[in-house]
Amino acid sequence: MPPRVQSVKGTRDLLPPDTAVWAAVEATAREVFGRYGFREIRTPIFEETELFVRGVGESSDIVGKEMYSFEDKGGRRITLRPENTASVCRAYVEHGMHQLPQPVRLLYIGPQFRNEKPQKGRYRQFHQIGIELLGGRGAASDVEVLLALVAFLRAIGFSDLTILINTVGDKASRARFKEQLVSYLEPLREKLSEESRVRLATNPLRILDSKSLEDKALLAGAPSLEAALSDESRQHFEAVRSALDHFGIAYRVAPGLVRGLDYYTNTVFEVVSEGLGAQDAICGGGAYEGLVEELGGPPTYAVGFAIGEDRLIDVLPPESAVRRNAAGPLLVAPGGRLANRPSVSPLLELVEEVRRQGWAALEGPAKKDRLFALAESLGSTCVLFLGEEELAAGTVVCRDLRSREQRSLLRADLMAHLQREFS
Ligand code: AMP
Repeated sequence: MPPRVQSVKGTRDLLPPDTAVWAAVEATAREVFGRYGFREIRTPIFEETELFVRGVGESSDIVGKEMYSFEDKGGRRITLRPENTASVCRAYVEHGMHQLPQPVRLLYIGPQFRNEKPQKGRYRQFHQIGIELLGGRGAASDVEVLLALVAFLRAIGFSDLTILINTVGDKASRARFKEQLVSYLEPLREKLSEESRVRLATNPLRILDSKSLEDKALLAGAPSLEAALSDESRQHFEAVRSALDHFGIAYRVAPGLVRGLDYYTNTVFEVVSEGLGAQDAICGGGAYEGLVEELGGPPTYAVGFAIGEDRLIDVLPPESAVRRNAAGPLLVAPGGRLANRPSVSPLLELVEEVRRQGWAALEGPAKKDRLFALAESLGSTCVLFLGEEELAAGTVVCRDLRSREQRSLLRADLMAHLQREFS
């Protein structure tokens, strides 16, 4: 036998019944972000490498180490998209969306590719759900995007996630702080971790993000980014925070949060979940003022975020409404001698009736062990039993597989019961 071909390291197949949860999460994203005016954009999975070099930044980890790049047959330098913001901005410029009434609100859902070391919660093909608001108005746009994020997280069943926010200041504040930080760290260079020594030259702000304890100790005496902020940046951050307070959104200011990409200005944020271990970030985002311009468009205020869908689904609460929507088909199983009836049987009639009312339904086997094994593999939450006794009495037995409760119902009451319990 030839050796089996396996999926590539860092990639994985998503199988039923899990795919139903993915589809339900995505449907909720379209619905909730749709309420905030975000409409879907689908950009190509590969782009010219140059887009990410310019859009994500040469000194970022993504461009420096993680891109899947190759030369195509026409000698073009191509990269599988490692994130979606740069592509959205390219499309915004390419299709003249900056001439539409502003702001333009876009939603994307799809796979991204990074050549990182695979581990729990970290894949080489992973999936992001993100929104971008382009052509907006500073703090008000930041708040709008954060409100949409919280609405989505609530809709899929998270009630206790905290948003970490920070400001990295505008361009001038950042340049000022960078200088101060470098002159503070330069004399301590030998004591820094290897990674931070490299970053001192390429992207000093990222040193604030360092996980190394030695680095953290050295940073305790460093000048603060906060102190370097311009009045404008300070007011911007205050405006965002007071709006979040006004709407009762829980957040924590995280002074070390700078995010890995070069293009952020002012507001940056992240959502983390304790259930995830080392790779605990579910969502990252922020405002970016220079990116559209960098890609050949007009100066444009923009803000957005990307949610890691793989990780989000890993920590989805068990009672999430999304899981309910993703439940497998109802099973209708025969009782007693009904099992031996010809194919157009009262059983099939019941299955069809349930389907016509809008539920997915399948005929199940009579044998209990096979029936429950099938229910498990399909993710079903309900079995209806119909035997000769029930047929004669005009009833049906309904078993809720979640609570294991079983009830006999009049046929006439069945649909109302299903509506109440299973939709
Ligand atoms: P980033 O584009 O790096 O800001 O990432 C945004 C979100 O995407 C993160 O918070 C993660 O949830 C998710 N993410 C990033 N890289 C990976 C990966 N390699 N595997 C799985 N999820 C990822």
